[in-house]
Amino acid sequence: MNNSRYTLGDQQLNDISLKDLARRSRYGGVFYLLAFWAAAFSSTTAREHIDIIGVFSGCFLLLQIYRLVLFLKVSSSNDIDISTCFPRYAFIYNSSAIVWVSGSAWLFYINPIVDLAVTINMMAAAGISIGGVTVLAPSYKLMRSYFVLICFPFALAAGLLLNEPGNLIVVGLIIGYGLFIFITGKQQNRVYWQALNDNLKLSEQAEELEKAKVEAERAGQAKADFLAAMTHEIRTPMNGVLGMAQLLSMGDLNEQQQQQVTVINNAGRTLMHIINNILDYSKINAEQLELEKIPFSSRNVINEVMLLLSPQFDKKPIKLTCAIDDIPELVRGDPYRLHQILYNLVGNAFKFTDEGEISIEVSCKESDEKNTIILSFAIRDSGIGISPENQQKIFEQFYQVSHFNPNIRGTGLGLSITKRLVDLMGGTMSVESIVGTGSVFTVTLPFILPSEDVLNQPLLESTDKFEISDVQRPLHILLAEDNKVNQMICEQFFLKLGCSVDLAETGVMALEKFNSSQRYDIIFMDCNMPEMDGFLATVAIRQIEKDKGFNQTPIIALTAHVEESVKRKCLESGMNTFLSKPFLFEDLESIVNKVRMGKIK
Ligand code: ADP
Repeated sequence: MNNSRYTLGDQQLNDISLKDLARRSRYGGVFYLLAFWAAAFSSTTAREHIDIIGVFSGCFLLLQIYRLVLFLKVSSSNDIDISTCFPRYAFIYNSSAIVWVSGSAWLFYINPIVDLAVTINMMAAAGISIGGVTVLAPSYKLMRSYFVLICFPFALAAGLLLNEPGNLIVVGLIIGYGLFIFITGKQQNRVYWQALNDNLKLSEQAEELEKAKVEAERAGQAKADFLAAMTHEIRTPMNGVLGMAQLLSMGDLNEQQQQQVTVINNAGRTLMHIINNILDYSKINAEQLELEKIPFSSRNVINEVMLLLSPQFDKKPIKLTCAIDDIPELVRGDPYRLHQILYNLVGNAFKFTDEGEISIEVSCKESDEKNTIILSFAIRDSGIGISPENQQKIFEQFYQVSHFNPNIRGTGLGLSITKRLVDLMGGTMSVESIVGTGSVFTVTLPFILPSEDVLNQPLLESTDKFEISDVQRPLHILLAEDNKVNQMICEQFFLKLGCSVDLAETGVMALEKFNSSQRYDIIFMDCNMPEMDGFLATVAIRQIEKDKGFNQTPIIALTAHVEESVKRKCLESGMNTFLSKPFLFEDLESIVNKVRMGKIK
């Protein structure tokens, strides 16, 4: 801040200080008039000269009106001409001083005895000079000329016109007091400019900080955008890697080949997990994460987490249990983030436990806030535990406790993301752990209780358990997808699910196929396709169905985007649900089965 443009001094009376001067001085003229009247009317001789009193009063009044006019002009203008305004203020103050001294000289002349009138005059002069100092603090030059004009002629008039010896005391008083006021005025002037410069410097710093903040936000946004674009680009080929690995594993392989494919599969899934974590992490850092506020069943979310993780529990001798207290059927909040928090914690518990039990305990307590309850989720494991020192650090980003187990991998981001999500949702998170015995991670989250009408409505999308249907009804599927690898993977997955598939490579082709005599049970729609994207194609299909009075065909979005905004766009265009790439065979199977059971229609 060395070359600050704010190193102003008295010599550079600027628009701020001029406005300040105008504001401070706007009513000052009234006091000259009142003080003059007080002195004049307390003298019987002066009262006889009402015409002269009128002349002085008129001068004071005119000067006061001029002050008000100047004030209005200066305060309403954004482009003040300082070079013309400054002399006008000099004129007002110098004239006020001259009129005041002339009025006092006249009073001394007609009333030379130091009496009540003179005393009042002296007190008024003292008051006026103090007021003048405060008002003229922005300009030393103005203050100096005002004092020279008011103090010395005033003293001269008193010395010459008042009777001796009182006149000498009065002269001494005027000069002594005048000098004292002048020195005080100088100090005030210095303090005024110091304060003004400090103030301006502060506002300059605030401006610079604001600029830096915007810059930092822009940089954060660019980083988040880059990561979003990059992860999107990675998702599409990863769909190929994971899909092909899954197809391979379903084929006729010997044991060694099966193991090799499992390694590809696991590595691919871990990579996707890391990519998702990094994306979330950057979104949270860029404060881009939007939380949903929709009614949902927390019981369903817990079921989904358990169901998703349950295949892993076949690999270790660990029992997964869940105890849910009496909690409200529906709450309002973000089910996706609750899912993510629980998935991370139960996933970690599994990762760091070799045998025993992992339990999810859910309870509910009242909140101080109206219509809000607090759900508490305790994830307890009988795993390796965490030492007290590490318990302090595990919520920091990229912190990992060093383990000697090469099978345990991670990024050190899971808990820090979970903690930040919990903070964003207004909750708390804590850990208790004993090394070698196990850990308990407890999360409390406030949720709003939905209103009565919401409670009576069916949930938009039921998140009931993913039941595996035994109804193997063959479905006819339209797959709109331009990527050859994805076409191949989906086609083979669908064939394995006993379905037949028609392919469309663009949105336009999908529309043509839909318009033909063929009837489809499901449409899988890639969002980004040439000619016409999946969103537009869906809107068109929904319109055709409406025009022709057809039942709606379930449309499932296939998208490599994971942003909530894209998911929302899918639903808004008329799609029933979405599947993020890379998807697994189980994901397609679950959707196909849901359609078979009429759960998506
Ligand atoms: P990572 O992805 O590396 O697991 P996390 O942020 O999820 O990162 O966890 C950070 C560290 O906290 C882990 O390296 C692990 O040492 C420890 N940790 C997390 N959960 C548990 C648990 N349930 N039991 C023991 N240690 C845990």
